[in-house]
Amino acid sequence: MTHPTPTPPRGLHHITAIAGDPVENLRFYRDLLGLRLVKKSVNQDDPSTYHLFYADADGNPGTDITFFPWAHAKPGTPGVGVVSETLLTVPHGSLTYWTERLHAHGVRVDEQRTSFGEATLPFADPHGMRLALVEADAPFTFTAWDDGPVPAEHQIRALHGARVPVRDIAPSRAFLEGVMGFEHHAEEQGWHRFVLPGAQGAGAGHLLDVREAADERRGAWGVGSVHHLAWTVDDEPHQSALREAVAAAGRRPSEIIDRFWFQSVYFMEPGGVLFELATSGPGFAVDEEPAALGERLILPPWLEPHRAKIEAVLPDLSAATTPGSAA
Ligand code: ZN
Repeated sequence: MTHPTPTPPRGLHHITAIAGDPVENLRFYRDLLGLRLVKKSVNQDDPSTYHLFYADADGNPGTDITFFPWAHAKPGTPGVGVVSETLLTVPHGSLTYWTERLHAHGVRVDEQRTSFGEATLPFADPHGMRLALVEADAPFTFTAWDDGPVPAEHQIRALHGARVPVRDIAPSRAFLEGVMGFEHHAEEQGWHRFVLPGAQGAGAGHLLDVREAADERRGAWGVGSVHHLAWTVDDEPHQSALREAVAAAGRRPSEIIDRFWFQSVYFMEPGGVLFELATSGPGFAVDEEPAALGERLILPPWLEPHRAKIEAVLPDLSAATTPGSAA
């Protein structure tokens, strides 16, 4: 039986990574990069650890980067199957502002480059995670965070994409194109840019750059590495259709998991990168008022009876500066 090709995902939904100390993570992503902390929760498999969600003011899909801060975990190992750079979209003409802002806060910034025609500013977060700001048109709905430390005209607009080396590009390419519905956009300096339909320009918010690195060792997750890339699906029927196609390709997807703010399916693409398919709703405002997003610790119902115990062991985040004061 042949499976009809399902509708591809709509672009990036969120990116989840592993951080070190949560206060340092909060200072960097909220107070320096100016993203809003839209959800403060716990790792559902390890409730003694936070799960911190940063996004635009409303937590729109495609703007969200999330962290498990494991202060005592080992650093990640770069290598095949592990994302080597996470790209964030900023408005055209804002890299001068960002270079000065990062310098002023002691962040070592690498030389600006042009990748696939886009001005790109690479640097690392305090835990070694490689990031780059990319000037491009905003790919998704964006709400400026008026109380944030970065002026609205320079604020990070969205997730832009990710770069990953793989040992053998052929199976990844076959999977990305044949199952996920990516299109091969271009090749530059060994990087192949794959883009989902519906993207503008060079693929902002819809792209994955893959490079074949046959001789590199397998990378390993740890502090400073991306844990997974989540792609947006419309609803459960869309998610189920893609899940079936992933299963038919032998990639053994998880069951559909209820994450409250969205529903998720996980699987590894052939190069070793963990993917998630996440529904665009119901969204982060489902259990908090939009104005108060991220202020209190949000727990799933089965952990709520243990709130006092969980709050007692979680690190105190109040050492981070309050929004606005790092401007
Ligand atoms: Zn996720």
